[in-house]
Amino acid sequence: MNPRRTSKPIQIGDVTVGGNAPIVVQSMTKTDTRDVMSTIAQIKELEECGCKLVRVAVPDAEAAQAISAIKRGVSLPIIADIHFDYRLALMALEAGADGLRLNPGNIGEPEKVEAVVRAAKERDIPIRIGVNAGSLPKTNNPQLTTAQKMVEAALQQIKLLESLDFDLIKVSLKAFDVPTTIDAYQDIAQKMPYPLHIGITESGLPRKGVIRSAVGIGTLLYLGIGDTIRVSLTAHPREEVIAAYEILKSLDLHQNGPILVSCPSCGRAEVDIIKLAEAVEEELAKINEPIKVAVMGCVVNGPGEAKDADIGIACGKGKAVLFKKGKEIGTIQEKDFVVALVKEIEEMTSR
Ligand code: SF4
Repeated sequence: MNPRRTSKPIQIGDVTVGGNAPIVVQSMTKTDTRDVMSTIAQIKELEECGCKLVRVAVPDAEAAQAISAIKRGVSLPIIADIHFDYRLALMALEAGADGLRLNPGNIGEPEKVEAVVRAAKERDIPIRIGVNAGSLPKTNNPQLTTAQKMVEAALQQIKLLESLDFDLIKVSLKAFDVPTTIDAYQDIAQKMPYPLHIGITESGLPRKGVIRSAVGIGTLLYLGIGDTIRVSLTAHPREEVIAAYEILKSLDLHQNGPILVSCPSCGRAEVDIIKLAEAVEEELAKINEPIKVAVMGCVVNGPGEAKDADIGIACGKGKAVLFKKGKEIGTIQEKDFVVALVKEIEEMTSR
């Protein structure tokens, strides 16, 4: 795995993005931002599952102004997502947004971007330049690949912001196409010092979207690229946060939270391992502490993995051997599998 790319850290509210800060998981609310109570409730749900930054859509003036009431009800930093109308960015800043996300390609004239940059600078509020493959500005180099056009668009906007003496910048280059996204990020990572927000845009419903995102985001993180991530899913945003942490945990980039090791089951299993793993996963979802639990279907591969976990069981016919920190601590009957595992999990964590 490549060492993490060095980036210039920025501060969004009390969250540091880039530099040596841990990779930040973010999401976006799916409520109508003008509905302050629903938006606050969803942000609180996101916070509970570990989300560190939240973006809200700002489609009109009422949504921009709602940010001030939303901020009074939550503790996570709020990023205002602006398209087309630069005046909404100014209003969001006025309302106390902790960050802005602009797609300069659809904001229009440089003077409008400039007005926003000046207002952000007065308040030390960072701006994410969010380039999307689907809305690229016109280029003088039509022979460029989509990834190159995305990089060109981002660099132009970075230059504009820098010319206004503004460097609280974060950049994203998102496409639905995973190779295009990876190419674009790899290219820009060498061309500018700012932190990168990475993700695969519009990746779809969870079953496929999580895989697309894991391949794209996971590849980039493995290459050392990425300071903050969002898994974009057509689902409740909680699913985005859960998926994001699973990607980080898969690469050992996040030590918090439980890890469930469960065998896929096969003809050797003499218990319903799928049902058992689902029940254990449901219990682990209530825990934020690092604990590794293994649920294995037989004595062929089971004891090795079970010993390697903090708590593990290797099942046989109607019973299982229970392991704790690598040591066999007893045999349990099938009817007690979940209860016994939960008891050990509770003892090892603060639950
Ligand atoms: Fe099959 Fe046993 Fe491996 Fe599970 S641990 S997949 S039951 S061989």
